[in-house]
Amino acid sequence: ALKQVKSSKTESYALYDETLHQQERRKQELELALRDSDFGRELKLYFQPEYEPTGTTLIGMEALLRWRSPALGLVGPVEFIPIAEETGLILEIGEWVMKTAMEQIRDWNKRYETEFFVGINISAVQLQNTGFVGLVRKLIEETGVNASQLNFEITESSTLNPNGAAVSILKQLSEMGISIAVDDFGTGYSSYGYIKRFSIDILKIDKQLIDTITTNPNDAQVVKAIIAMASALNIRTIAEGVETKEQARLLKKMNCDIIQGYLFGKPVPAEEFADLHLDKEEC
Ligand code: C2E
Ligand code: CA
Ligand code: CA
Ligand code: CA
Repeated sequence: ALKQVKSSKTESYALYDETLHQQERRKQELELALRDSDFGRELKLYFQPEYEPTGTTLIGMEALLRWRSPALGLVGPVEFIPIAEETGLILEIGEWVMKTAMEQIRDWNKRYETEFFVGINISAVQLQNTGFVGLVRKLIEETGVNASQLNFEITESSTLNPNGAAVSILKQLSEMGISIAVDDFGTGYSSYGYIKRFSIDILKIDKQLIDTITTNPNDAQVVKAIIAMASALNIRTIAEGVETKEQARLLKKMNCDIIQGYLFGKPVPAEEFADLHLDKEEC
């Protein structure tokens, strides 16, 4: 019996080694392909709408990055963003994302009367890079967009030291007129202190919390408390990953300001976004 246990144990270690090895190989493949990639051809921004809770008025949209590698096919951001962060490639990719999003805003401003803002995901690695504020200022000048149409989404993270340089960087961005949003709020390191320390304009309540508000009364109470706290601090709330009418109805009752999720629209390419969410109001 002892022998059997031993051998099955060795086997499971072998299996574990195998998967680790595969993961490592996949990572290296992705890193190489990402280093080689022609951003203009392979990267694309999708946009997902953000509506007020009844779904009649568009408030804005979030830019979400897609990568189609000629060698590896479609790779999701959940897989390649961490690799881009580890390798520092996120600096170039992040610049491409900001530039492309701002060019899109400029284009839509010309064609539509609708006022909107665009959420752009900013990695903590970008924030910590000296010259980030200068780069943002340059891109705003080059594209001529209004800083008030930009909403930088920062994932709450232990790497954002509330006593470090990030405080001053976020303050400078804020003074330029850019909104600052805490992404994935309610699941990580966020706290009242964190919100107070960084000049936060928007809280994005994580999908994980939103998923269960219609089935778990405790989660509903937590979301209600988050919205009440934000409102008391003059911070707007966006509920992420809203998929059902029941969720939207409950969030409206809780005075959530904005809703994002498949219920009102999936992330789609810019042209399709305009057809679905902007075209009604073309001037
Ligand atoms: P995130 O910023 O939390 O983005 C929201 C994610 O939830 C997106 O996944 C979106 O497609 C998905 N989502 C929205 N509504 C629903 C819904 O109703 N149901 C479901 N099941 N999913 C929904 P996506 O596009 O795969 O992006 C994943 C993550 O990758 C983002 O999470 C963000 O952390 C990161 N990411 C995406 N684009 C960028 C970027 O340009 N820069 C950086 N640094 N990170 C990015
Ligand atoms: Ca986000
Ligand atoms: Ca999020
Ligand atoms: Ca997320």
